[in-house]
Amino acid sequence: MPAEMTVHAKLTEIANNLWWSWQPEVDDIFRRIDPIRFTELSHNPVQLLKEYTPNKLEKRCREEVLHSKINWAFRRFKEYLASDSTWGDTHAGLLNFRPVAYFSAEFGIHESLRVYSGGLGVLAGDHLKSASDLGVPLVGIGLFYHEGYFSQAIDENGWQQETYTEVDSETMPLTVLKGPDGKEIIISVETRNEKIYARIMHVMVGRIRLYLLDANVPQNSDEIRSLTARLYGGDQTTRIRQEMLLGIGGMRALEAIGINPRVIHMNEGHSAFAGLEVIRQRMHKDGMTFDNALRETAASGVFTTHTPVAAGHDRFDGGLIDYHLGPMGDALGLDHHGLMALGRVDPQNHHETFCMTVLAFKTSRRANAVSNLHGVVSRKMWACLWPWRSEEEIPIGHITNGVHVNSWLATQMRVIYDRVLPAEWFLRTGEPEVWAGFEQVTPGELWETHQALKARLIVYMRSCLMKQAARKNASDSELADLSEMMDPQALTIGFARRFAPYKRADLILHDAKRLARIAHDANRPVQFIFCGKAHPADEIGKSILQKIVRLSETDEFRGKIVFLEDYDINFTRHLVQGVDVWLNNPRRPLEASGTSGQKVVLNGGLNFSVLDGWWAEAYDETNGFAIGDGHIHANDDIQDQRDAESLIDVLENQIVKIYYERDTDDLPQDWIMRMKHSVKTLGWRYNADRMVMDYVTGTYIPAAGGESAEMRMMP
Ligand SMILES: *Cc1c(COP(=O)(O)O)cnc(C)c1O
Repeated sequence: MPAEMTVHAKLTEIANNLWWSWQPEVDDIFRRIDPIRFTELSHNPVQLLKEYTPNKLEKRCREEVLHSKINWAFRRFKEYLASDSTWGDTHAGLLNFRPVAYFSAEFGIHESLRVYSGGLGVLAGDHLKSASDLGVPLVGIGLFYHEGYFSQAIDENGWQQETYTEVDSETMPLTVLKGPDGKEIIISVETRNEKIYARIMHVMVGRIRLYLLDANVPQNSDEIRSLTARLYGGDQTTRIRQEMLLGIGGMRALEAIGINPRVIHMNEGHSAFAGLEVIRQRMHKDGMTFDNALRETAASGVFTTHTPVAAGHDRFDGGLIDYHLGPMGDALGLDHHGLMALGRVDPQNHHETFCMTVLAFKTSRRANAVSNLHGVVSRKMWACLWPWRSEEEIPIGHITNGVHVNSWLATQMRVIYDRVLPAEWFLRTGEPEVWAGFEQVTPGELWETHQALKARLIVYMRSCLMKQAARKNASDSELADLSEMMDPQALTIGFARRFAPYKRADLILHDAKRLARIAHDANRPVQFIFCGKAHPADEIGKSILQKIVRLSETDEFRGKIVFLEDYDINFTRHLVQGVDVWLNNPRRPLEASGTSGQKVVLNGGLNFSVLDGWWAEAYDETNGFAIGDGHIHANDDIQDQRDAESLIDVLENQIVKIYYERDTDDLPQDWIMRMKHSVKTLGWRYNADRMVMDYVTGTYIPAAGGESAEMRMMP
């Protein structure tokens, strides 16, 4: 009989698959082993377990009575990996031997793996998790940034400071892929003058394999070794090289591993060079002409565009393209102008730079935006690529983003779901009937659960503020003040996201006097928690952030507005699970979708948002609150002024009123009705299972050459 595995061996196996990160019971096991250390290690169980010998861990698990929990988790883990009766088995069998290759420059799966900066990455992470749960044959391809995205601290002037820390890949849930000879597999991409080498880091995300390319190998010069150090850092040269590695290197990595994807899904244009490598391989292996290879490649290409903001579309000048893509052009039989034409709206226009989004459109037959409104905007924006078509006929559909339920739903809220929704509801999250059961939850129970989650957020917020202050040598009395910051009973509004200027984090401050008056109403107090990072090169974003930090330090707003440093997935989780209201006020129509508000929905918080992105199609007048009426003014200042007025009017006249209207049991019945309505009408639709199912039936299966059961996506 084989020897029984030690708890150390079982937990190590679990920790090396990020599946654990969306299993609250497993998270709880790691936490119980050593809560303080686990937090210090950014909830990284691989690193935690390295600090324990099997014997020491055995003893610790006995003290905490964890053995049966561990055995149960281990059994569930094994069953999950082995299951062969998934949604994907019946709906995506066509992809079984040749999966979808999902390319993304960032993946936000868990706070301990810092290869993401914001919404795009978290969306990619949620996509992998749902693909895993659904059993969709898919592999992820990205880059391994060994310094990740930056850590944020705010200095005494309220200005953002960035620091980067080198991660030790030994303490990450990664393995370096090796060939049959036991040596690391090394792939390369070539520029005119050098080769860029990379190894392949393998990450398990449930059933899904994610491959991250890492240029930090001895074969490279020192300069190239730091190519993949940072996410979205560096200049245009770094950028084009990273994108070459992601697209071309990514395809070569798949080839080296022995994966021949049937469908290429480009999550944003960063990976569009992948199409060129597919074309090259077809010409080389199948003897096709360039035109035929392009047509075939595009037929199996899927492209998701993510932003109408111009700066979000990478452009490279002819010199950069020639230096870096010259060898590829030669292999494709294209001269400089032929190559440039692939990234130009007008192939004849020699003044046009090379745009990755244009390349992505030209190398994929199926393209989609990420919300209904973003679809309309994208068709208008890219109509220039199909000048012979009318705007409605532009072939860009939409699949609205969604979030991975298990990753964002609070454990206490799940208890309610388990009781009022049908058994195994989590396997059917895309069905409205399943969510209709939420009607049955009693108002008192929903309210108490929500209040408990909010209290937890307030405690967490205080501990973050105290840590921030301690780093700045705050006095004991200052720390004592912070330990009582904010009122767990007060209406609490959250705002957390990247501080990109179009997101207008400071919109609520347009009329600071009026805001202060509303916030300080003794009977109906209101408080705000802000959190988020500005891109290191974004001076405007940083000055918006500074404005909020400085205001939070004034006598008028102390205790009414707080700013929490170093936003990450862990902050998101606390915030979206605990706030009453989630504020989102981008300048319409620049928020392609937005997803953070969807995370709030699952936990009973209400959205308060500009009618942009997903909210423009989701809002029904009782499932949350709207800022403005969807009208867009050509003048930004006028638009901002109007939205700011609408924001504060709705806050004062609707939100505060309804929230504080209590019955004899001190329950806000109207508010609770809205919470229930929000979960019921939005939960089934804005989750990542529904999103991935839409991608499978609407794009992957058709791109793989099969019939699709339902075409929800294309206009
Ligand atoms: C969900 C999430 C986002 C997306 O936020 P939006 O408000 O939708 O832009 C960004 N960053 C993190 C860490 C997230 O978890």
